[in-house]
Amino acid sequence: MYAFEIERPTTVAQAVEALKNEVAQELGGGQTLIPTLKQRLAAPEVLVSLSGIAEMQGISVSEGTILIGGGVTHDDVAIGAMAYPTLAALAGGIGDPAVRNRGTLGGSLANNDPSACYPAAALASGATITTNAREIQADDYFQGMFETALDDGEIVVAVSFPIPEGASYQKFVQPASRFALVGVFVAKYADGVRVAVTGAAEEGVFRWREAEAALSADFSAAALEGLSHPAEGMIGDMHGSAEYRAHLIKVLASRAVVDMA
Ligand SMILES: Cc1cc2nc3c(=O)[nH]c(=O)nc-3n(C[C@H](O)[C@H](O)[C@H](O)COP(=O)(O)OP(=O)(O)OC[C@H]3O[C@@H](n4cnc5c(N)ncnc54)[C@H](O)[C@@H]3O)c2cc1C
Repeated sequence: MYAFEIERPTTVAQAVEALKNEVAQELGGGQTLIPTLKQRLAAPEVLVSLSGIAEMQGISVSEGTILIGGGVTHDDVAIGAMAYPTLAALAGGIGDPAVRNRGTLGGSLANNDPSACYPAAALASGATITTNAREIQADDYFQGMFETALDDGEIVVAVSFPIPEGASYQKFVQPASRFALVGVFVAKYADGVRVAVTGAAEEGVFRWREAEAALSADFSAAALEGLSHPAEGMIGDMHGSAEYRAHLIKVLASRAVVDMA
């Protein structure tokens, strides 16, 4: 690890100011960034810790929406997001206790690992990502593997999730990493069903729109029977071929629907 300075702002405004330094980078829970630094794959000269910013903490519920601060850890979501039980359960299933104790919602969404769990929750829920500068709809936010709509120095301050009538997240765990080999999040709203898939595609999280249309017309596992997801564009690696991942998408989507019955 190269040497770096650390700054500990207590407001978002101070953090934004600190990040104007082009050699500075946000530090959330450090669960991705610190290993990256240890491997010398990145070398920011200044880390701007977001963990002391009160504005980025807290969970609140209002008018059918749960608002979670970008600095809230996975453990705190698991305990505090009971208004959206599937989201709380997803957070409780991330990594291991050490990761959940430090890793944050904002860090996960900023990182947009193609196998991470929160991107599936955000996309399936039609969440809104609030940054220091603007509000970004989940449909516009995820832009490819490790790519998001965030500009340099832009901070994920909070995320609001519309609470669905019902939801289920089915994660096929990659046993070595604890990430999703494939994960499917199904959320049912009054105006339709949204299905988001993580872990499967080279481009990262995506909506399976054919399943959404089928489930919006008939919310049953039978409605998915005639569908299959193509293997094209899916990740193939030592843990599972592209065909295997494509197959898992339908299996997990069906399990989610059965789980919600
Ligand atoms: C062993 C292990 C298992 C894991 N398993 C899972 C899993 O099953 N599912 C899952 O979803 N994730 C998993 N993770 C990832 C974990 O959830 C991380 O906590 C997360 O990806 C990064 O969040 P962080 O707060 O630690 O961010 P950091 O590591 O601090 O930062 C990650 C990136 O985001 C930027 N950043 C951080 N916070 C913000 C912010 N608020 N606004 C803008 N940019 C920001 C940083 O500059 C950096 O580029 C796992 C990690 C490990 C080490």
